[in-house]
Amino acid sequence: MFELSVEEKSKVMEAYQELADSLSPSISKTNKELIWKAYNFALKAHGNERRKSGEPYILHPIAVAKIVTEEIGLGTKSVISALLHDVVEDTEYSLDDIENEFGEKIRIIIDGLTKIKGAFDSNSSLQSSTFRKLLITLSEDVRVILIKLADRLHNMRTLGALPRKKQIKISGETLYLYAPLAHRLGLYAIKSELENISLKYQEPEVYRDLNNRINHTEKISGHFLKKFIEPIKGKLDEQKISYDIFGRPKAIYSVWHKMKTKNIPFEQVYDILAVRIIFKPKPGIAEKTQCWYIYSLVTDLFKVKPDRIRDWVSNPKANGYEALHMTVMGPHGKWIEVQIRSERMDKIAERGFAAHWEYKTGESVEGELDKWIKKVSDLLQSKELSDIEFLEDFKLNLFESEIITFSPKGREVSLPNGATALDFAYEIHTQVGHKAIGAKVNHKLVPLSYKLIAGDQVEILTSDIQTPQYGWLDIVRTARAKSAIKSAFKDQRKKLIAKGQKDLEDNLKELNYRPNSSVFRKLFEEFDLQTKEELYLKLGREIVTLENLKKILKKRSKKKQVKFWGLELFSRRTEHVNEDTDSNSDDAFILREDQEDPDYRLAKCCAPIPGDDVIGYTNPDTSEDIIIHKSNCPIALKLISSQAESIIQAKWTAHKVMAHLVQIKADGIDRIGLANDLTSAISKQLDVNIRSMHIESRDGIFEAELDIYVHNTDDLANLILSISKLKGVESVKRVEKT
Ligand code: MN
Repeated sequence: MFELSVEEKSKVMEAYQELADSLSPSISKTNKELIWKAYNFALKAHGNERRKSGEPYILHPIAVAKIVTEEIGLGTKSVISALLHDVVEDTEYSLDDIENEFGEKIRIIIDGLTKIKGAFDSNSSLQSSTFRKLLITLSEDVRVILIKLADRLHNMRTLGALPRKKQIKISGETLYLYAPLAHRLGLYAIKSELENISLKYQEPEVYRDLNNRINHTEKISGHFLKKFIEPIKGKLDEQKISYDIFGRPKAIYSVWHKMKTKNIPFEQVYDILAVRIIFKPKPGIAEKTQCWYIYSLVTDLFKVKPDRIRDWVSNPKANGYEALHMTVMGPHGKWIEVQIRSERMDKIAERGFAAHWEYKTGESVEGELDKWIKKVSDLLQSKELSDIEFLEDFKLNLFESEIITFSPKGREVSLPNGATALDFAYEIHTQVGHKAIGAKVNHKLVPLSYKLIAGDQVEILTSDIQTPQYGWLDIVRTARAKSAIKSAFKDQRKKLIAKGQKDLEDNLKELNYRPNSSVFRKLFEEFDLQTKEELYLKLGREIVTLENLKKILKKRSKKKQVKFWGLELFSRRTEHVNEDTDSNSDDAFILREDQEDPDYRLAKCCAPIPGDDVIGYTNPDTSEDIIIHKSNCPIALKLISSQAESIIQAKWTAHKVMAHLVQIKADGIDRIGLANDLTSAISKQLDVNIRSMHIESRDGIFEAELDIYVHNTDDLANLILSISKLKGVESVKRVEKT
């Protein structure tokens, strides 16, 4: 039955040996034997099975088990469960077999893992309902989630063996769910690796480019770092502190994320390098005190930036992270971040949750995590919410940092940063939320939208005649408040949608129109909407009216108005070159420029242009157009994770006719004649047209916003290049819509 070649067998044996070597040296003989037994069980169960890469399947569970012990720091039960995690799903063995061999606890963990089987191993993808199940098991045994993360990490590390379509799907999911989850559980190293690999597959070119730039920065800053670190070492040695100090570059994904969210070029990300000091605490003195002592040694040497001190020693993050961060002015007038951690804090930072078990010092950290798990299970109780809504709300909570506020009687209420008085009300009780009319914060009357800050004492004022308001959804931040308000509106919403639909159908009938896709396209364009549901709802609420229906229907689609630019329409044609999904992305949807009426449209959120990396979304409920998103668009990532079966690969053919609007921003040193040079650079380039240009100049610095029509990303790249060559121009970039 076991038909591996001799080389393969020795490769498997080697992998197991590495796993055995990575186990804690203090592990008992019995436990070692149990792990060996689990390995042999898995080996027999998976038999001749192979991974997509052609490797023996058993290498996967071994690798997952190694991550579980080495990188997360979990114990024997978890290692056994990791070895067996794919057995029940993929082989003839059942949960009963597992229980007979390894006991009930292992059965429960394997059962959890089997239930939440993700995209890689099977053909389905991680759906929101699956995710909900995943969280239910989290509240039962957090090890299930930790092993699942290890499984995902190994699948990401070996993603190269899969077809492009799956790479995009899986890395999208990872970015959307698994990385935030790792963050929430405090597994920073894993979170960061998941993000980096995802970026590598989502945006290969961006990744390569940033990787090169960061390596380069690291090389040239070796000397700089030495100059910075040497004096600090001197001080630490003088104080007989035992420590480790080193510079480390920011993760590629973090750099990219910063550039995107702050809309800045690479050169302006000033904290590419951080210096970390990890010290061995002296006995008898609190670690917190020792952190601040080192802080003061560093500030004796370098000037600190007061608004960039982060004290997670006094108040650990909700996920358990502890450290003291500061930013100081280093040599050559460069800001540099310094992170101070004890050895224990460092371990927690790397391994997250699991490390807490190892250091059962204060109850506070574990308490924080327990509180969070409790919140998740509360949220799971709200059964009225659909899975997708649940997922959305839950996602909101993953990245939040927390503040502590107080009730009038001094009860602690922890809320995400940015939470309002109304969130506080819902945190106390759903009914308090529904009936809230205002609040007193520190004895002062404030509206419900008031943003709380840490330490606020909050009293909620209620009224029996109050009911939840629509606008409240914009005010609240917590998943709990959102879901409470949404479920209150659920019924009302259904009625409004029905009313809106009937209203529209009656009106169309009167004008002798049928509700077909061309009618909806015109209505969507008119009211700037994306879905029928939105349209019905807005009609139901009388936010939009059909007064001008006749006129709207007579209007020519805006797409046709683009003919002003001397351009023509395009259309798509599906080309199923190959039905075999594993033959790479050959079955991609082809986006063509053509004469016919298109049945795909470009998403407004991210406004892709030909040449961008894109995916297509088909709404399963309607037969509407396929919507084309950039593959890195946040909305696309959401769709990939929640409705992967509706996502199709899309590819551009050469686009040379139709023009697309993009926005470019440029800045630099202002000078006479600059506007002129900009316009002439644009007009000199064929295939590009300018729609508008806006230049603002202040204190000798200019900022220009240009709305440009281009055919594709090549045009755009050429244009950016020629603008960047103009005298005085510092940076030019495309404005990415999000
Ligand atoms: Mn697996």
